[in-house]
Amino acid sequence: MTNGPLEFVSDQPASRVVFGQGSLNRVAEEVKRLGSTRAIVLSTPEQRADAEDVARRLGDLSAGVYDQAVMHVPIETARAAREEARRLNADCCVAIGGGSTIGLGKAIALESSLPILAIPTTYAGSEMTPIYGLTEAGIKKTGRDRRVLPKTVIYDPILTLTLPPKISGPSAMNAIAHCVEALYAHDGNPIISLMAAEGIRALSRAIPSVVKDPGDLHSRAQALYGAWLAGTTLGATSMGIHHKLCHTLGGTFNLPHAEVHTVILPHATAYNRDAAAGAMRTIANALGVSDAAEGLYDLAVRIQAPVSLRELGMPADGIERAAKLATASPYPNPRNLEYDGVFALIENAWHGRRPS
Ligand code: NAD
Repeated sequence: MTNGPLEFVSDQPASRVVFGQGSLNRVAEEVKRLGSTRAIVLSTPEQRADAEDVARRLGDLSAGVYDQAVMHVPIETARAAREEARRLNADCCVAIGGGSTIGLGKAIALESSLPILAIPTTYAGSEMTPIYGLTEAGIKKTGRDRRVLPKTVIYDPILTLTLPPKISGPSAMNAIAHCVEALYAHDGNPIISLMAAEGIRALSRAIPSVVKDPGDLHSRAQALYGAWLAGTTLGATSMGIHHKLCHTLGGTFNLPHAEVHTVILPHATAYNRDAAAGAMRTIANALGVSDAAEGLYDLAVRIQAPVSLRELGMPADGIERAAKLATASPYPNPRNLEYDGVFALIENAWHGRRPS
């Protein structure tokens, strides 16, 4: 916290959260609690078996499974899923999976106002936010609408046991990024800052163990707890340079979502280092290190996650274009958007240099 006057607005929409090992057993009870009797169960094609398991547990409360969720919610997929929900006469969406599947549920809810019951299986945090994304003609647009915030979230760490290390690590760094930006957001508040610091602490402690031993249920639960906190902080605050830049890079060069977050986070943190000294101290303390940016880079190395944009496939001649795009329209960030500084940030990230 700063030494200035303590003033804030907290306006947080609440979701019901059911957390714990085996909590998936409560899915039917939770659908009934929403007053629903015909759930459409959503998943990616890869997680169809998870969706079928949920449908089995729902019995008569399941109207059918739709397994076509893909990254970034293409508008054609959203339209097809909305049509399927109508055809099935569904009165709620049960989304089991990561941000892509929950995003598809949000696309349905945005038009129909159907309630969503989310069962996250990654650490992305979408289940706790009123933020939706839709991709049309290759351009992803995001917006906020309370209709898309899931009414109920079931967090069962058993479901994350199958998440491989190469997805677990970047997914957790994506969640840590939500906490980092919430700590210096212009519209943050003290409760969100507590959640963000605790989110960084839980995720950074748990994720090295999760990557080393994917079957470590205790660490899986800690990481999922951190993801819950992280998603809440993302939903409650505005995004700064880190999220905006990841959005630009991911969209322009078609780079994988969580991996871009992993690579950019130490450099975006370094960019804001002097302009958000209080947040930096909180992040460093939560990580148990002396410098926030260096600590985040070292964590990525430790969990064998990518550290350079080069290894994600971004062309070297894209740096200038990305810096221009990223500084084209202003938004609140602790340090002003300066072309030279943003260029250096992206260049350092492209090479995978440790921020100094
Ligand atoms: P994802 O949902 O795309 O999942 C990646 C892959 O992992 C998929 O094939 C999925 O089926 C598989 N998978 C997921 N959980 C698994 C498990 N437990 N075991 C085995 N495989 C599993 O990845 P993500 O990173 O969770 O989501 C990324 C998307 O979410 C992006 O489009 C991003 O923009 C969006 N997102 C949105 C918000 C928001 O608030 N709206 C927040 C974070 C991310």
